[in-house]
Amino acid sequence: MQEKVVQPLRVELGERSYEIFVERNLSGDIRRMVESLCESNRRFVVLADEQLATLQSTFLTDAFGDCPRLELPSGETTKSLEKLGLVLDFLADSKLDRSACVFVAGGGVTGDLGGFAAASFLRGIDFIQVPTTLLAMVDSSVGGKTGINLSAGKNLVGAFHQPRAVFADVDLLASLPPREFAAGMAEVIKYGLLGDRELYERLLKSETLTATSPEIGDIIKRCCQNKARIVEGDERETDSGVGGRAMLNLGHTFAHAIEAVAGFGEYLHGEAVAIGMVCALRLSEKLKFLALGHGPDLEVLLGRQGLPTVLRAPLALKPLLNAMHSDKKVKGGMLRFVVMDAVGVSRVAEDVPLSLVEDTWRTIGVS
Ligand code: NAD
Repeated sequence: MQEKVVQPLRVELGERSYEIFVERNLSGDIRRMVESLCESNRRFVVLADEQLATLQSTFLTDAFGDCPRLELPSGETTKSLEKLGLVLDFLADSKLDRSACVFVAGGGVTGDLGGFAAASFLRGIDFIQVPTTLLAMVDSSVGGKTGINLSAGKNLVGAFHQPRAVFADVDLLASLPPREFAAGMAEVIKYGLLGDRELYERLLKSETLTATSPEIGDIIKRCCQNKARIVEGDERETDSGVGGRAMLNLGHTFAHAIEAVAGFGEYLHGEAVAIGMVCALRLSEKLKFLALGHGPDLEVLLGRQGLPTVLRAPLALKPLLNAMHSDKKVKGGMLRFVVMDAVGVSRVAEDVPLSLVEDTWRTIGVS
């Protein structure tokens, strides 16, 4: 049989550079990495999402054998101080030293928590991301942002800690609930809108994408490439201008407000981002940065993937505006938005008139 050739992408960050493997059937490749760690006498453990462990037990066994594994409950509440303590105790009980490596298999929740535990244990040990949701494959596993939530807000504690490698096995998407797949598609569409017109046009021409679509692997790679280039240019999100990491927040100022006001969990993050992108596009039109006429395409694209383009139930304007003001993206009291000059060309705009933001909210069902 011909041997499979896996062509990785690379994130160039000097001594923190790493490779991203996006393929089907990667358990054997992960196993080889595990064996090479064993050969060099390095210890390793696995942190895995509980639901993944139930639905993809063969994958985990094929990739990691019977190595020590901690399963973490599914859901955002796992990104907590309490669960961080649990993970750190597990790393200590597993007698990991500074040469050890943690494999983190799951969605963004497991990745963010596990990555942060690796960043803080013994002041930082290696970790390898094994993203298993579409969102984690195209976004959260690449770029080194790790962290947990506090009751005061999301992602308030964390560290930049780049993984040593990312293994995205596209086959794992088969067990992902369709609503979670759709939420990941919102981030895919976002990459097109913010900086990759060719990707956006390809998506417009495609049928509805699913976990089994032949082109899904290619599309994930393309998104990872986009994210890698953005991260290489602005590893620690210090550049708020064109091309910096802040660009990845297209639609997010609106989305975070929707999530907070509707009650966390009412909308999946990707669903809120879908509505947020519609808002960002309309705001860009109202500011006369973007020519009129792109809205219908975006709505068709989102709708086709089962994503909302308006609120499912009305929300009041005032709490949404208040939530926007307490968002991390407010700088010096001014609201900042990622706006589009064209499809695939975006930038950060400051001092946006509040009246235009209010008008934008009203177009998606705000009372
Ligand atoms: P998630 O980790 O909660 O996973 C979503 C659901 O899918 C969970 O119920 C999980 O159990 C299940 N699941 C995971 N893989 C599965 C599989 N293969 N088959 C069946 N079920 C599976 O959510 P997510 O959307 O992956 O990530 C959201 C988190 O990512 C948020 O906490 C967000 O803050 C974070 N995030 C981080 C970054 C970053 O740069 N670090 C970027 C974007 C989002």
